[in-house]
Amino acid sequence: MSKKEKGVVYLVGAGPGDKDLLTLAAEKAIKSADVVVYDRLVSDDIMALIPAGTKFINVGKNVGDHPVPQERISEILVEEAQKVQKVVRLKGGDPFLFGRGGEELQLLVSNGVDFRVIPGITSSIGAATYGGIPVTHRDYCSSVHMITGVGKRGTEPNINFPALVKLDGTLIFMMSVGSIDYISNGLLDAGMDPNMPCGVVENGTRSYQRKVISTLENLANDVRKNYIKSPALIIVGRVCSLSEDFDWFSKLPLIGKNILVTQPKSKASRLAELIRDAGGNPILYPVIETKYIRPINPPVDEFKVLAFTSSVGVESFFEDLLDKGKDARSLSDKIIIAVGSQTAEVLKKYGVIADFIPSKFDGQTMIWEFAETGKVEPEDGILLLRAEKGSEETIEELEKWGARYIDYPIYRTNFVDHESLDMDSIDWITFTSKSCVSGLLSTQDKNKLKGRTAICIGRQTEKLASDSGFKTYVSEEATIVSMLDRIIELSGGHDE
Ligand code: SAH
Repeated sequence: MSKKEKGVVYLVGAGPGDKDLLTLAAEKAIKSADVVVYDRLVSDDIMALIPAGTKFINVGKNVGDHPVPQERISEILVEEAQKVQKVVRLKGGDPFLFGRGGEELQLLVSNGVDFRVIPGITSSIGAATYGGIPVTHRDYCSSVHMITGVGKRGTEPNINFPALVKLDGTLIFMMSVGSIDYISNGLLDAGMDPNMPCGVVENGTRSYQRKVISTLENLANDVRKNYIKSPALIIVGRVCSLSEDFDWFSKLPLIGKNILVTQPKSKASRLAELIRDAGGNPILYPVIETKYIRPINPPVDEFKVLAFTSSVGVESFFEDLLDKGKDARSLSDKIIIAVGSQTAEVLKKYGVIADFIPSKFDGQTMIWEFAETGKVEPEDGILLLRAEKGSEETIEELEKWGARYIDYPIYRTNFVDHESLDMDSIDWITFTSKSCVSGLLSTQDKNKLKGRTAICIGRQTEKLASDSGFKTYVSEEATIVSMLDRIIELSGGHDE
């Protein structure tokens, strides 16, 4: 095998958990990998970025409990590099800081395997920051030290406490929840002030992050009392006294809230992003998928008005138009209705500004508000370009108005099968359309959904959800931004 044909191993740091703390280099590597070998510390949000079709190898390990021995992990990397072009070894935080990255590289070097290393934001700094603790500050210390709480092969570490106390810097203990007594007694015995401020950050940078602020003499008890579990940092030093003032993260309005995103996978990223920005934990659970219907031949020439009720509808229609060698100019004499500002946004991408956007996201409002504009007579006709089996309400209103119309399906919605969810851990369910409600009902035991809190876009979506037993709220406008605002408001997250 020539050198070029051999694979390259990328040793990549995934950061402490928050997806946005992944470096651009890391994102590029995981998106183009053939194989990803990963640990338990890599967050689900980051794993979700890896394209379908990539091979995954889980070598996750817990402190003191190694499902896949380290030697074997290194061998797996060498073996995979013989088979494929690009192997990514993805690790939490930075790959070299207590990440055994060095050990893995040594085996690659001795086997002549080509490699790259992509540093990551280490949790020792990232999780401290999200806990409001700056690891250094000129008024408090002039050094920072990272220390492991476990020795080689799971033994108790051999920490030189007198030396650490003498340094008078910030001490960050990792993998140390299990050795908290050894650490706090060691520091006290070496003469550290019992009132020294300490901070514990568990699951740092994730929506469910927890923080405990204590003093050295109370540290071990506070860790136990709060049932702190790995992964957690134990930070000892005067900088911990800044934690209240500098804590922006736990004050985000949706912190700790698990929010179910039922939208199709292709659409879900924007809502998930907004939830994350507000501190919430989006749980991606696409219950429907949309598929363009092909071939289509909508009778555009027979109608003066084209009505689009969703962004997928717009995409399906215009992609077909472009495939036929035409563009928006072929619609220059049409009046275009867009239901929902997102539908209008997508129309703009295809070079069309909607002539009319109804104030609400339902068939009744759409037809009657449009009729009132006096732009057309009922017999001019409306071509409805929407999903197969769209809502009956729109048709009924068209009939009442006496309009000529054709209900032309240009995409269809299928339910996606899932394993059932632990609904008790979910704070909010988001429904952006009626089909999301039906999709979720099709995957779960209906009794377990009764009384769950759901936020809906559109009156019809809300009606279906409330008829199905959900406790429902509806967003003011037909946009996901408005939907999120409503969740924040109802969670008591607004200061006003
Ligand atoms: N290479 C990693 C550290 C691996 S050792 C890094 O640079 O972050 C594993 C230890 O890291 C855990 O026991 C815990 O002390 C710490 N850790 C990792 N992720 C963490 C997180 N999200 N919050 C708090 N501590 C974390």
